[in-house]
Order: sequence, then structure tokens, then C-alpha cells
Amino acid sequence: MKLYTIETGNRLCVAAEGSDGKIRTLDSMGIEMRDMNDLILHYDDLAPLIRRGTESGKAPEETDYIIKAPIPVPMQDVICLGVNYREHIEETVDVVDFTGKTDAVYFSKRVNRSNDPYGMIPLYDFVDSLDYEAELGVILKNDALNISVEEAPDYILGYTVINDVSARNVQMKHQQWYRGKSLDGYFPMGPCIVTADEIEDPHALDIACFVNDEKRQHSNTSCMITNVYEAVSELSQGMTLKAGTIIAMGTPGGVAMGMNPPKYLKAGDTVRCVIKKIGELENHVGMERRRYGKDDFKGDQKISETALPG
Ligand code: MG
Repeated sequence: MKLYTIETGNRLCVAAEGSDGKIRTLDSMGIEMRDMNDLILHYDDLAPLIRRGTESGKAPEETDYIIKAPIPVPMQDVICLGVNYREHIEETVDVVDFTGKTDAVYFSKRVNRSNDPYGMIPLYDFVDSLDYEAELGVILKNDALNISVEEAPDYILGYTVINDVSARNVQMKHQQWYRGKSLDGYFPMGPCIVTADEIEDPHALDIACFVNDEKRQHSNTSCMITNVYEAVSELSQGMTLKAGTIIAMGTPGGVAMGMNPPKYLKAGDTVRCVIKKIGELENHVGMERRRYGKDDFKGDQKISETALPG
């Protein structure tokens, strides 16, 4: 099953796509959910109902809608893995040398609001090295504490595509990466959450990134150094991973920073991040070098105020 947040009739709705490829809102199935976070917290109870609702003819399909980020407002900061593909370690060795590292690198990314699968990535005037990172995203459905690698799959709701957009000059300016990873608009996600039962093996997925149709990244999630289950288990030791936690699993080689000379994103570029069996994001980079203010996101905020209280 694929879970979406869609905009229809000027409001955000949680929706699901079944095997017939049609998208139906949960409302139309008689399931009232405030937003995707609400669904995540009740997913195990509601999954059979939603599955029935997605069956053709049981609920009206939606024909007029815009696909938004599946989790518009994450419940917490996103947990990220850094340098989790060997070729990415090698290409960035001149910037930070992680070649001798054996333990996973974990860091945090502030996401006040996710960017949409087709949203604009803003190029701020203090950013001179905007980069892309196609990543597998993992979403948890239950609180996880001290769980084993074998138990980890039971806690996973599903998978999504993430672009861990990074302002390299800001990332490197400060001792920690937090600020350079956390600017508004730097977390495109989606287009959906594919539930875990439909992904036979999350470690066998082709992953790629294209900039203006030029292939920049192409790998497979089998190349991850720390795999999904290991990361969930390790992170849960002594730290409760709450339901709704989003984990970005790190990016393969091919980022702009690793190229010689680097080919950073510029205004007008289109970035496409693709993971097989999940879908793709296609984001344009903001057309002007100027400060983006509150008004630039006004339309989006209007929807969030009416449909996503709190
Ligand atoms: Mg990353």
C-alpha cells in the first residue's frame, strides 16, 4: 500500500493507493485522520480497514489533487546517517576523512516543514555550494527501545524517498553539520510512504539522482554500510525512538561536493531523486539569489493552518 498526503479542495488529506493504482482519501473510507502523524500512531489498528477501502469501488477515487510531502510536519527532528556508502566516503575524503570509521555516523536535521515532492528548493544568498543527497527514508510506526536487529522490521511502517539537501559552505563553516542541513525547504520527501509489507527487502533497491537529466548518483541500498535494521536497533539502545521517527539512511557517491570541480546546484536546476519501487522527487532550485521570507511559503502555510492544527 502507498500512503500519501494530498491537497484537494484546498485542504490536506491523508490518502492511500491500492493495487488498482487509484488514490482514495481516508475520509472517503470513513476513516477520520487529522494528518499522517495521526495515522502513523494508529496504523496497525487501521491498516486492514484502509486496505479494504483501497479496493476498487469501495470508495470514490480522487481525481483532482496535488501530491504533497507524505509527512508535512515531522513529529521530531530527522535522524540522519552520514557517509553510509563506501563510494561517498571515498569521494569526500579531502573534505572530511572517514575512511577509518567503522561505526555509523548519526546526526540530526531540523525539519520544521517537509518540502513537497515537486516543491521548490530555495537557494539562499548565503549559500554558495548547494548539494543534493538521494536517500532511502525509513518511518517508524511504534516506539522502539532496546530492540534487536531481528525485531527491527516489526517497528517499521514503511519507506520513502528523501533528498537530504545540504548547504556545504554552511555545513562546514560550523563544527557540526546541523545548520547546513536544516534550512527551510531542504527536506523534500515523498512522493509517498510505501508500507513495509510491499518492500520485500529494503536492502535491494536501486537509488539514483539526476540533475537536469544528467545522472549524478546511481547505486543500490545493498551498498549501505549500516543497514536499516542495524541502524534502528542500534539507535534504540538506551534511546526511545518514538513512533513517527524518520531516519534518512545516507547517500551514495556522486554528490556535487565530490566532483572535480564540484558541480553544485544553481538556480533553474532540476533535481530528481529516484528509488525503485517507491517513486521519485522532482524539485526545482529557486530561480533567484535572494533572501526567502515568510511570504514565499504563505500559500502552503494557509493550508497548514486550516488542515493541520498544532
Ligand atoms: Mg545525507
